[in-house]
Parts: sequence; structure tokens; C-alpha cells
Amino acid sequence: HAKANGRSDFQFFIEAMRDEVAERVTIEHELKIALEKEQFVLHYQPQIEPGARRVVGLEALVRWQHPTRGLVFPGDFIALAEETRLIVPLGKWVLEEACRQLKYWHQAGYADLHMSVNLSPAQFHDQSLPALVRQVLAKFDLPAGQLHLEITESMAMSDPEENIIMMQALADIGVKLALDDFGTGYSSLAYLKLFPIDIIKIDRSFVKDIETDENDAAICEMTMLLAQKLGKQVVAEGVETEAQLEFVSRIGCQWIQGYLFSKPLAAAVAGNFIQGFAG
Ligand code: C2E
Ligand code: MG
Ligand code: MG
Ligand code: MG
Repeated sequence: HAKANGRSDFQFFIEAMRDEVAERVTIEHELKIALEKEQFVLHYQPQIEPGARRVVGLEALVRWQHPTRGLVFPGDFIALAEETRLIVPLGKWVLEEACRQLKYWHQAGYADLHMSVNLSPAQFHDQSLPALVRQVLAKFDLPAGQLHLEITESMAMSDPEENIIMMQALADIGVKLALDDFGTGYSSLAYLKLFPIDIIKIDRSFVKDIETDENDAAICEMTMLLAQKLGKQVVAEGVETEAQLEFVSRIGCQWIQGYLFSKPLAAAVAGNFIQGFAG
């Protein structure tokens, strides 16, 4: 026990905190080095239109090839990158790399593909974002409409009046905007009408139990109806089973992303997937 060897619980608390701070400082330092040494890599998850048997696009998802810890997933470093604002240069790298890869696939004969790129709050609130997007599109000579930028619903709703201005600036470039993790962020229907977004991504948490949970099923059906009325495309995230595919297809969802078709893949493997899928 803490008191037994003359140390208070508070001292233990302080030490635990110190360890945590040290750990954070280490990761923060490592993140900086990772950027310089280009230890990040993008994996690509296909988005499928099953009815047409085609890959419509891919979502770029960042991973960190850590020299000792192996492949680290975004859940373990994006939040810290966001807090330290390292996400801004990292996000710039992601945008460039994803567009470079998209151009490569366009030139390989898949000119209809789009690329979806996630934006973090710090990136989205950076006033130079529209200029960066224009610059990257020009660098790779890509049609703006084939770049899809994903912002989470909760981020969009955090200051909707202000965010509409940035969304509009991006929409004016011609890129498409997707509302990610939809259903988790308490959208007001009024804002959904005002947001210049083209795509709604139904969060995986609603798809998971769609066959057994009536509430989840109802939320998905309502989202589909609303999206259809508002003229927006819907992507169902996290489709893992044939039964889930059947359900989301039946309610009218045409674009599917999930392990049923493919996990996120390294670029070369994703290329093979695209080639093998059609037909
Ligand atoms: P997200 O944007 O909602 O991306 C979808 C996540 O769900 C990905 O996890 C993907 O691997 C996972 N997923 C897709 N289909 C399935 C499925 O059928 N079953 C299950 N269990 N999972 C599925 P990942 O790659 O770990 O990314 C997690 C989150 O990290 C992303 O969620 C996104 O918010 C963030 N993230 C990833 N890459 C970036 C990036 O380049 N920039 C920023 N700002 N955030 C990123
Ligand atoms: Mg996303
Ligand atoms: Mg998502
Ligand atoms: Mg999600």
C-alpha cells in the first residue's frame, strides 16, 4: 500500500502523471522525426458500388511505420498530432500523397476514381487550406470533383455558422465534401440543409447491428430518406457481412465501404484490387 512505505497516494499520482507526460513528450518528439524521415504511409480502402460491380473511389488512411513499434494506427497518434498541431504538416503530406496516388491510378486507366481524404479540425480551421487544396490539385493536374474531403459530423457541428464559410470555400474549388461518422454528431436538420456537402457517410456503429437493432435500422433508413430528399450520395461504412450489405442496399445505399469487400490496403495491393474487381 502507498502509505506503508511512507509515500502518499498523491506522490504516486504525481509520478504516474510524470510518466504520462514523459510518454507524450516522447511520442511528440517521435512524431516530428517521423515526418522528417517520412515514416508515414497511406493505405487505401476501396469504396464499392456493388450494383455496378465497380470501385468508385478509395479512402486514404494514414499509418505510421514506427521503427520499433511496427505499424501504428491513427487511433494511437492522430489525437496527439492534433493537439500539437503536427497534424497540419502531416495532413498536408497525406493530401499530397493521396493525390499523387490518385493521379497514378487515373493514368493507369481508372480515370473515374475519386480519392477521399480525412481532414482534422486543425487543418479545417487553417485559413490557408483552400489555397493548399488548389495547389495540390494543380500540381497533379487532377479534376477537383474527384477529390473528396471528409469532415466529421461532430466537427462540422462544433461551430456550424463559421464552418459553412470554410466548407463553401472548399466547395467553390469544386472538390466534394463528405460528412464522416454521420449519426454520431447530433446534426441539426436545418444545418444539414445549409452545409454544401455532397456525401453522407453513415457511421459504422449503426451498420454493425443493423439487422438486429431496430433503432439502428431506423436511423439508417431515415438517413437514407433524408439524403435522397436533399440530393446527397450516401456511403455505408463498416459493412462486414452479406446480410448488412443486403440491408443497406435494400434501403437504397449504393456506395459501400467495409471489410466485406476490402480492408484498407497498401497502394500496390489496392491497385491489384481495383484491377481485379470490375467485370
Ligand atoms: P474514418 O475516417 O471513419 O475511417 C474509417 C475507419 O474504419 C478506418 O480505420 C477503417 O480501417 C475502419 N473500417 C473500415 N471498414 C471497416 C469494417 O468493415 N470494420 C471495421 N471494424 N472497421 C472498418 P482507421 O484506418 O484505423 O482510421 C481511424 C480513423 O482515423 C479514421 O476514421 C479517421 O477519423 C482517422 N484518420 C485516418 N487517416 C487519417 C488522416 O490521414 N488524417 C486524419 N485527420 N484522420 C485520419
Ligand atoms: Mg473518413
Ligand atoms: Mg468514417
Ligand atoms: Mg468512422
